Amino acid sequence: MTSFSSYNFNGKKAIVRVDFNVPLSKETLKITDDKRMRAALPTIKKILSDGGAVVLISHLGRPKNGPESTFSLKHLCTHLEKISEAKVNFTPDCIGIEAENAAENLKTGEILLVENVRFYKEETNGDLPFAKQLSRLGDCFVNDAFGTAHRAHASTTHIASYFKSENKMCGLLMNAEIESAKKVMEETKRPFTAIVGGAKVSDKVLIVENLMKKADHIIIGGGMAYTFKKALGGNIGNSLCEDERIETCKKILENACEKGVQIHLPVDSIIANEFSKEAKTALKSSAEIPDGWMGLDIGPEAAVEFAAIIKASKTVLWNGPMGVFEMVAFENGTRSIANAVAEATQNGAYSLIGGGDSAAAAKQFDVVSQISHVSTGGGALLEYFEGKVLPGVAAIGQ
Ligand code: AMP
Repeated sequence: MTSFSSYNFNGKKAIVRVDFNVPLSKETLKITDDKRMRAALPTIKKILSDGGAVVLISHLGRPKNGPESTFSLKHLCTHLEKISEAKVNFTPDCIGIEAENAAENLKTGEILLVENVRFYKEETNGDLPFAKQLSRLGDCFVNDAFGTAHRAHASTTHIASYFKSENKMCGLLMNAEIESAKKVMEETKRPFTAIVGGAKVSDKVLIVENLMKKADHIIIGGGMAYTFKKALGGNIGNSLCEDERIETCKKILENACEKGVQIHLPVDSIIANEFSKEAKTALKSSAEIPDGWMGLDIGPEAAVEFAAIIKASKTVLWNGPMGVFEMVAFENGTRSIANAVAEATQNGAYSLIGGGDSAAAAKQFDVVSQISHVSTGGGALLEYFEGKVLPGVAAIGQ
């Protein structure tokens, strides 16, 4: 396994697969959040300061049939130049003679950004000849795109097979993500509490099942909690429910009992008469929600109970909000959890927050700087905690 930090990039052209899938304003095509670009800067800067040059490969959005100007990476060039403080060159194709020449002529200290790799269906198909063409753009390969590490695409996975093991490695962002996930799953300090929330049980079944192998406590909140409540015989009114998952929920609860894992469901809920910020609201037991009403947040008793468990933990993983935190009336549960995770961290716990919505919640409640690690990966992080091998990481041999 090659270490990025000790690799000398002097005189090398390094292909770096980054995740520059940033949101752009529909009207102006200006970047509205550059977090993903900034996250790759330490890797880029280390290569440049060693005396190397960087060839960046990324996707942007989900183009359907070849090139679409709204998904062009050229919209990122000016901003990349500003934040990297390096000259940024651009080629309107990611493979072929023009890209290869531009890479060949790239000077030390410069960056070449090639056009959106998903303009070719060969990228998502994991096409080997296409991956081989991409590999011609540099002498070594660095994967720093944790956000796409769960995809066996040409530029995230197969490209690595065209480099010797000493010339392929994970970048700093990728390493930080993997180390953090390993701290939770492999170097677990106990008690370990996993908090799982969000809308659907079906999206989180695998993660809950896998976490049962490790966690001491699993806190379940958000819309997904109501299918569990119904499985236990509660009345959940019009709350989110996946009837076809009721049996799965029952099995999870049974397995947890056998394994000695404590599953915690919200005893009370903030309920609403419609899914709206203007809805009438009330506080009710989560098992006694009247018809026509729906649970949109955990209640204050559940929040206090959950916070106490979190604060007594030494490892905390959080994926998925406790309620519809985007609306002020239903944000309190998620805020309490965010504060409890921050407090546990101040008391020496290791905390990892991951998944788009939980990361957004951590930001909304201003606790990001108090968390051990806020992951940039949504799907990749989920798949790691589901116990799956991430092809992008496996291809590097890590
Ligand atoms: P996910 O992407 O599965 O993590 O789900 C996140 C979304 O779940 C957020 O947009 C929340 O607004 C939503 N959500 C959380 N709790 C509830 C709930 N009780 N009812 C409906 N939606 C919810």
